[in-house]
Amino acid sequence: MRCTVFSCLLLAAALTFLSVAARAEWITGDEAIMGTAIRVEVWAEDRATGEEAIAAVMAEMHRIDRLMSTYKPDSEISGINARASEEQVVIGRELFDLVARGLQVSELSGGAFDISYASAGHLYDFRAEVRPDQAQLEQAVEAIDYRMIVLDDETLGIRFLRPGMRIDLGGIAKGYAVEQGAMILREHGIAHGLVSAGGDTRILGDRRGKPWMVGIRNPRNRTEVVARMPLVDEAISTSGDYERYFEADGVRYHHIISPSTGKSAGDVFSVTIIGPDATMTDGLSTGVFVLGVEAGLELINSLPDFETVIVDDEGDLHPSDGFM
Ligand code: AMP
Ligand code: MG
Repeated sequence: MRCTVFSCLLLAAALTFLSVAARAEWITGDEAIMGTAIRVEVWAEDRATGEEAIAAVMAEMHRIDRLMSTYKPDSEISGINARASEEQVVIGRELFDLVARGLQVSELSGGAFDISYASAGHLYDFRAEVRPDQAQLEQAVEAIDYRMIVLDDETLGIRFLRPGMRIDLGGIAKGYAVEQGAMILREHGIAHGLVSAGGDTRILGDRRGKPWMVGIRNPRNRTEVVARMPLVDEAISTSGDYERYFEADGVRYHHIISPSTGKSAGDVFSVTIIGPDATMTDGLSTGVFVLGVEAGLELINSLPDFETVIVDDEGDLHPSDGFM
C-alpha cells in the first residue's frame, strides 16, 4: 500500500489506538485474607499491568494482616496486648497512627466505637459458639475505656492504664486496608477500580462513564438487596449482625460489642456508611451500629462528608438527611 508521510502517520496512530483500546479491559482478583473475601477490580490498559496492580494490593493485605491480627501471637498488636498494661510499649508509626484514628472515632461516637472493647470481646469465639458468663463479662467490662489508652507522640509509645485491657483494630483495619489498596492502584496508574474486604469497599473513579452501582444487602436474606446506590470515588462500609454470629436460647450473639455491657449490640440489623475515606466509614459503621438508629443518625447528620442508611431490627430503612 502506498501512502504519504502524513497519512502513514495517521494510520499508525489509528492502529496503535485500536490495539490499545482492544487490549484495555476489566480485570478482577479474589483472595481470602484477614478472615474475609478480598476483591479487586481494575480497568487496565493491558492484562499484565492490571494483574501486577492486583497482586500488589493482595500483598499489602497480607502485610496489614500480619501487623494487626490478634490471632497471630507474633503480630505487633499481640505484643501490645501482652505488655501495655504493665509498661509503655514502643510501636511502629503505622500502627500508632491507626490506634490514634481509632481513638478519634471513639471521641466522635462518644465511646460507642472503642478498640478496647476487646477486653471483653476476646472472651467470645463465634465459630466455636463460646461466650463469657455474666461474672466474666462484668470483670472484663471494667477494662473497657478508650480514655485509658495513652499514646506518646514523641516515643511512639502506647500504655494501658487499666489491668486486663486489650485492643483490637477489627472495626477499622479492613477499611484502612482497602484505602491502602486504592492508593497502590493509583501508584500503578489505575484510575478506575474497586478494592473490597468483606463489608468495606473503596471505589476509585467511575466505571468508565457511569457510576459504580453498590447494593446494601438485606440483612436477613443474602440474595436480596434493599437499596442500590450510584457511587464515584467514594468509600462505603457496612456493619451487620449477620457477619459473624451464633444463636443460643433465641439470642443472636454477634461480633459487634457494646463497650458498656460487653454484649452484642442489639437495636439494628445493619449500618452502611458512605464517605471520602474507608478507614472512617469502617470505624463509623461499627460505632453507629452500637449507637442505634436515633443517636446514630444524629451523629452522621452532624458530619457533612458522611451519609448513612441504617436497617433497624424490623428491617425498616433509616437514611441520613443528605442521603438522597
Ligand atoms: P465491622 O464489621 O467493621 O463492624 O467490624 C466488626 C469488628 O469490629 C468486630 O469483629 C470486632 O473486631 C470490632 N468491634 C466490635 N465491637 C466494637 C466496638 N464497639 N468498637 C470497636 N471495634 C469493635
Ligand atoms: Mg467497621
